[in-house]
Amino acid sequence: MMMKVYIIMIKTSFINPFSEDAKEIVRKLGKLDTLNIRNDDLIDIIHNTPNQSFVGVPDTLLKLALTRFEWYLFRKTDKFEEKNYEYLFNPDIYEYDVVSFYLLCQAVAIGYGLDSHEAKQVIESENQLIAQRIDRLSQQDKQDVIRESLAQLVNTDNLKWTDIKEVLEVSSLELDQLLLSNGRAIIDYDDFVIEFGGLIEGRYPQDVYYTTGGLKTKSELLSGLITIQSRKYIANVAQMVERMVEPNPLIQDLANQLKQLHQEAQEVKYSGHGKINLDDTKPVKYQIEAFPPCARKCMEGIKSGGRNDAIVLFLTPFVSYARLYPGIFSLDQSMKVSDVDPSLDITHEEVLPLIYEAAQSCRPPLFKDQPQEKININSKLGFGMHDELKLDNEGETQWYTPMSCEKIKLHMPNLCHPNVDCKKIGNPLTYYNRKRKLLKRTNNGQVNNDGN
Ligand code: SF4
Repeated sequence: MMMKVYIIMIKTSFINPFSEDAKEIVRKLGKLDTLNIRNDDLIDIIHNTPNQSFVGVPDTLLKLALTRFEWYLFRKTDKFEEKNYEYLFNPDIYEYDVVSFYLLCQAVAIGYGLDSHEAKQVIESENQLIAQRIDRLSQQDKQDVIRESLAQLVNTDNLKWTDIKEVLEVSSLELDQLLLSNGRAIIDYDDFVIEFGGLIEGRYPQDVYYTTGGLKTKSELLSGLITIQSRKYIANVAQMVERMVEPNPLIQDLANQLKQLHQEAQEVKYSGHGKINLDDTKPVKYQIEAFPPCARKCMEGIKSGGRNDAIVLFLTPFVSYARLYPGIFSLDQSMKVSDVDPSLDITHEEVLPLIYEAAQSCRPPLFKDQPQEKININSKLGFGMHDELKLDNEGETQWYTPMSCEKIKLHMPNLCHPNVDCKKIGNPLTYYNRKRKLLKRTNNGQVNNDGN
């Protein structure tokens, strides 16, 4: 489908939820009780969005918040239909869009807190949505809206790089991407010409400006600033709720629905190919709902400190055996990944993405400051110390088996939050195999009870 380029006036609140006009929209919102009441204006905007399908579109602000999150969670899955979410890119939706973003922030603040995986996901979804919106704008609108949005968040005329240290920590922006002059980051084209124009020979200053930073750098700076503002807002709401304010039940309910949606997306994303079967001696489709609490916690990301061990030593062996050979403990010999995945397709397409997503969810993301951990992951899968996972290197190291609950409790106690199914098992993989059987039995029971 052709991507629509919007050429109408763009409100900065469509790109920057912390702009003055966005804050004004939220101030005017009024009673929260109206959030789940049918909103005809919103429905009209959605119905007038080109290429929009009308199946399951939101008719209230709360549902808009939910579908915004759904777009983020499902967009890389087979279930995703772009035409179901076109309205998110229609600039006319800006007022409702701003409100729905704040609702999401409030929901994660109330339900899970600032350091939660859910808070991180909501912030990331906002940044990805903004990036795609910018992508669809005309070149001139891109320039204008980014410049205006940045000017509302920082003083672009006199921005010291030390003022945006935090941005460098939370975003993909690197210090060496910034054009610096006496410690001052040169953001605008006019400043660039004043500072560096005299040094440019034989090329147009504008071309040099765009290749040495320009739009990409500014977009990343904007994304980092929005992350920081979002974190501050979520922290404030969480504090207020802790101190005195009784959370609105509608927002609490939204928080629960976000968690449920995340769980559904995980199932869709990682239950890709293969079959659900209980033969543990060959690759079997992931059943995320059967994962033990420690694996789920790890998939939500770990704070610095225990990140490396959790991802490399615990999660990598667990998810690789869970997908490729869950019955490893009934075998009295070691195995190689290629014994069960000869082309390594499953490993590349399902196992590594799951590990990498968990690594990315860590705070800070594991590979941002420690890219060498990818090599350690390959090594634990049996492919030696190489930055690419290749059959030629298989056997240089051993495919690590999942560590026992006892070891996890000793070395990574923060991962272990046992539930009732943890009784009588000694290893997370055993938990997984047992739980898969229990779930199958329960599902069969349901089918029988339903008389189907
Ligand atoms: S008891 Fe074992 S399976 Fe259960 S959460 Fe702890 S480490 Fe995981």
